[in-house]
Amino acid sequence: MVKMISREEAYKIALSAAVRLPTQRVSIQDALGRVLAEDVVSDIDMPPFDKSAMDGYAIRREDLFNELRVCEVVPAGHAPTRPVGPGECAKIMTGAMVPDGADCVVMKEHVELTGENTIHFAGKDTATNICYKAEDTAVGDVVLRSGEWLRPQHIALLASVGCTTPLVSHRPRVGIIATGDELVEPAEKPAISQIRNSNSYQLQAQVAAMGGLPYYYGIARDTASDIDALLRDAIGTTDVVLVSGGVSVGDYDLVPTILKRCGFELLFESVAIKPGKPTHFGVSDAGFCFGLPGNPVSTFVIFELLVKPFLLKMQGHDYTPQNVIMPLDEPIEKRRTRREAWYPVVLTATGSVRPIEYHGSAHARALPQADGIICIPASVTKLEKGTMVHVRQI
Ligand code: AMP
Ligand code: MG
Repeated sequence: MVKMISREEAYKIALSAAVRLPTQRVSIQDALGRVLAEDVVSDIDMPPFDKSAMDGYAIRREDLFNELRVCEVVPAGHAPTRPVGPGECAKIMTGAMVPDGADCVVMKEHVELTGENTIHFAGKDTATNICYKAEDTAVGDVVLRSGEWLRPQHIALLASVGCTTPLVSHRPRVGIIATGDELVEPAEKPAISQIRNSNSYQLQAQVAAMGGLPYYYGIARDTASDIDALLRDAIGTTDVVLVSGGVSVGDYDLVPTILKRCGFELLFESVAIKPGKPTHFGVSDAGFCFGLPGNPVSTFVIFELLVKPFLLKMQGHDYTPQNVIMPLDEPIEKRRTRREAWYPVVLTATGSVRPIEYHGSAHARALPQADGIICIPASVTKLEKGTMVHVRQI
């Protein structure tokens, strides 16, 4: 009898087995979705000088209600040529250097022209409207830490500190194999008793979306020789192999036996997750493998819960999923089992969580409507309306 372990245990076992991939320098234009492998330090102050936040006039606050003479115009990218003295101001553009002497900028919209070269503040009061030198970042500040998973906003920061070739982890190469006599590729029309292979494409997309490199090896028929051949193709060329289907207890579920024959030690073979119980995880000298259940929702959920954090860990990123906590709109029930259950849900515009129609692990049509998935713990059989639930966004 195979031992069923909890999701937390499976997570711990898999993530502690993960090995760090090598690192490489890439162009900042190729860094999106990669995991940073060095701390990045700023070589400049930001802002680099006291900078106007508005188009307007740089003045001395003590002169706020006086008529002022416009002494010069300071565009962005040009240094002021003289300080602002009493009774004076400088016309200034957003992003330009505030001249010495001035301690605030009044907005152009709040100023009236009183003569050819004189202005008067027409408002009641003004904010300072100056971004001070180094108020965001000082020279030498660590602006990004090793392990950061780079999103577009991180790319902006890399650019602004001049880090044009950040050191990042290699992308994990992930081999994908489908198994099943019933499978045909999506371009084909399934004959009676056949279905289309959707897992392989879902998995390739899931791998690509988290920064991995998917390598697709095709469909293995439910024979030892076929599974063996595709696995041996994938092992060695990839860092991790994902095999979907054939991991359960049916007569033709041969994957676990073949994984062992190919040199994998199976660290777990059953996880208390619904959907996804017969999930396998193996390690060998040549790399890692996950045996994923064949139903597409199971495959999706297990990738999300275990494979994605594993692949990110290989790149040095500790993945913490985005959860929002909101009340349930309607009750959800589940049978009493030893497994925790994951359900697809939507977030409503009024700030609640609504379960969606979901027929079980083969119901691939349910997922595209979902904003996230929620977990009903093993010991719970019903979540009442109003229960605060954690929605893991997908
Ligand atoms: P298995 O884990 O092989 O017993 O498969 C469980 C269920 O998932 C069966 O109904 C399979 O037909 C289905 N299935 C297996 N592989 C795939 C796949 N690649 N794409 C879509 N459905 C699949
Ligand atoms: Mg099968």
